[in-house]
Amino acid sequence: MRAQSEACGTEIISQTVAKVDLKSKPFKYWLHPMGDDEEIEEEEHTADSIIIATGAKARRLDLPGETKYWGNGVSACAVCDGSLPIFRDQPLVVIGGGDSAVEEALYLTKKAKKVTVLVRRDKLRAGRTNARRLTTHPKIEIKYNTSPVEIKGDEGKTGLMTELVIKNTVTKEEQTIEAKGLFYAVGHDPATGLFKDQLDMDEDGYLITTPGEGKTSIEGVFAAGDVQDKRYRQAITSAGKYTFRDPSSSKRSPTLHILTSCTGSGCVAALEAEKWLAEQDDSVDNELETENQAEKSQVNGVVPEYRSNPLL
Ligand code: NAP
Repeated sequence: MRAQSEACGTEIISQTVAKVDLKSKPFKYWLHPMGDDEEIEEEEHTADSIIIATGAKARRLDLPGETKYWGNGVSACAVCDGSLPIFRDQPLVVIGGGDSAVEEALYLTKKAKKVTVLVRRDKLRAGRTNARRLTTHPKIEIKYNTSPVEIKGDEGKTGLMTELVIKNTVTKEEQTIEAKGLFYAVGHDPATGLFKDQLDMDEDGYLITTPGEGKTSIEGVFAAGDVQDKRYRQAITSAGKYTFRDPSSSKRSPTLHILTSCTGSGCVAALEAEKWLAEQDDSVDNELETENQAEKSQVNGVVPEYRSNPLL
């Protein structure tokens, strides 16, 4: 992907953005020196348009054993990691009671032996339909009023997690259950701190964009991906129009067309930014054209009307 971007003329700067100023145009931004997130470089950079794709970070629980088994059974994304062979036909655990937890658990049932969902309260936060899908699934067990306590594993041979210690929050009783995988679905934090008090955000800190256009509250600033989308996240972000041909048909024309309605927010933001920049160029071109025309007329001894009119 990097090579492809560079081949298209993209310059990639691998540094962290320290602050941005979106109040005047061109927009300004400053960087942290490489490997130092405390200092801020003096050099001021500018941009005519900005696409924000800083994402959202999955929350962790800082459980004992979490760091040791992260990536070795513990994950925050079932869609990304759930198909790994280590999880196939194994008992897995999902933590959380929201819509993401439901989707993660349902996804995992395709390959897992059993999925246990730990909900810290006595009820789910997920919507009604999702709650019904979860509670009626034959491979899913929900443990209410239950929190994880410690992740245990096979330190010697495989280095993978094998068990989870859980606690009933009402009775305080602890038990150890077999778990070859643990998936966190306890919410995300969007990386929008840089834009606080500059761009409109919702109550959870996600950037608010115009549906289908990726425009933020400042003209020329666009957003794409998880930073403006708390619902679809890892869902397919490619888009387009697919044409299937019937191989048995001798006709050259397609026999079946499927139009997808989903369009990747990254593509949308890029196209909108390109369009917006072209519009800015057009207005500059128009101004220049008018100036040139005026000068040309003066050279010919004719003063253009707008220059001779003192009201304009
Ligand atoms: P969420 O709605 O904030 O749910 C997070 C869940 O994690 C809650 O059940 C919460 O428990 C639990 N939790 C938080 N901290 C915890 C901790 N320390 N220990 C144990 N449990 C903890 O997050 P989400 O599920 O990622 O959804 C985010 C938004 O996207 C929501 O608006 C959701 O409706 C939407 N979404 C919609 C869909 C869909 O409609 N298909 C799919 C995905 C997401 P409490 O309930 O006790 O706070």
